[in-house]
Amino acid sequence: MPKEIKAYCPSCKKHTLHEVERVRKKKASEFKAGQRRFRRATSGYGGFPRPKYEGREKPTKRVPLRLRCLQCKKATTPKGIRAKKFELVEVQ
Ligand SMILES: [Zn+2]
Repeated sequence: MPKEIKAYCPSCKKHTLHEVERVRKKKASEFKAGQRRFRRATSGYGGFPRPKYEGREKPTKRVPLRLRCLQCKKATTPKGIRAKKFELVEVQ
């Protein structure tokens, strides 16, 4: 995938050049509501709150991306593309 692509910018209301950033998962904050609930559920008796996942793992995963418009500097978050391997490359 190229580092810069043309994509629709909702705030410019047209296709502009966007910088592609790969989004990495952040460590869950201990103070967010979901994490507090999770800590409470895993403490004490009664094990893990969610059932064990059964079945095969999907062969491809969605790569989380962020597109930043180079004109208005606003970022949009597309759905991401599915790929086995993902690389950002410089294209001239
Ligand atoms: Zn824009």
